[in-house]
Amino acid sequence: MGEDQLRAIVRRNLERVRAEVANAAAEAGRDAAEITLVGVSKYVDATATAVLVDAGLCDLGEARPQQLWDKASDPRLAPMAPVRWHLIGHLQRNKADRTVPLAALVHSVDSGRLLAAVDKAAAAAGKRQAVLLEINCSGDSEKYGLAPAEAIDLVEQAGGMAGVSLQGLMTMGAREGGTTVARRNFADLRELRDNLVSESGVTLPILSMGMSGDFREAILEGATHVRIGSALWTGVDPWSRQ
Ligand SMILES: *Cc1c(COP(=O)(O)O)cnc(C)c1O
Repeated sequence: MGEDQLRAIVRRNLERVRAEVANAAAEAGRDAAEITLVGVSKYVDATATAVLVDAGLCDLGEARPQQLWDKASDPRLAPMAPVRWHLIGHLQRNKADRTVPLAALVHSVDSGRLLAAVDKAAAAAGKRQAVLLEINCSGDSEKYGLAPAEAIDLVEQAGGMAGVSLQGLMTMGAREGGTTVARRNFADLRELRDNLVSESGVTLPILSMGMSGDFREAILEGATHVRIGSALWTGVDPWSRQ
């Protein structure tokens, strides 16, 4: 596949995904401008990722810290428009130091110890790190994330930290049960957010939920950030996949 063909495919995919996001927003009676599309680039190399940025998407998500570090410093991406990197997958505490200076938003804080490590790394980097708490709403045992009942303690912990700015919650829809079950998981995340806000008095504006297979349901339930990978890379040749 040549570079021109790759460009054409990625542009078409991005247009289609944006249109579907806009449709879901309209269906929900919401303004599409309040929904951030995070393009998940974990499936492809830096060349294909740069094509997506060139097509106009500057919010990029990586699931593995090491891949985020590599892409953030890759010469194929460095000359592009400024990218906002989102760490959407599990973060090990010993990787906080290298990740925090690069990340616009860490979606996956799932323990008090990790929150403390991010706070420390942010102080060292001279920044305030925006973070989300990852919640396991589906109860899937293979998923990362806090049980909903554990969230309040971390909200209070974050309130006392100078290095973190807790912005909201993230979840993944259940693997089994299709979009009906996923939608219920997303509704649960929104209700948990509303309860945390009324219990603690903080504001938690961000709800990061919805992937290629279920972002419509997530938007109907109030998602402010959807994390979309596969739908953006349909038809892209394996040579540019990792
Ligand atoms: C891979 C990944 C996504 C994107 O999933 P797709 O189904 O490919 O859109 C979203 N969120 C997380 C946490 C991921 O790891």
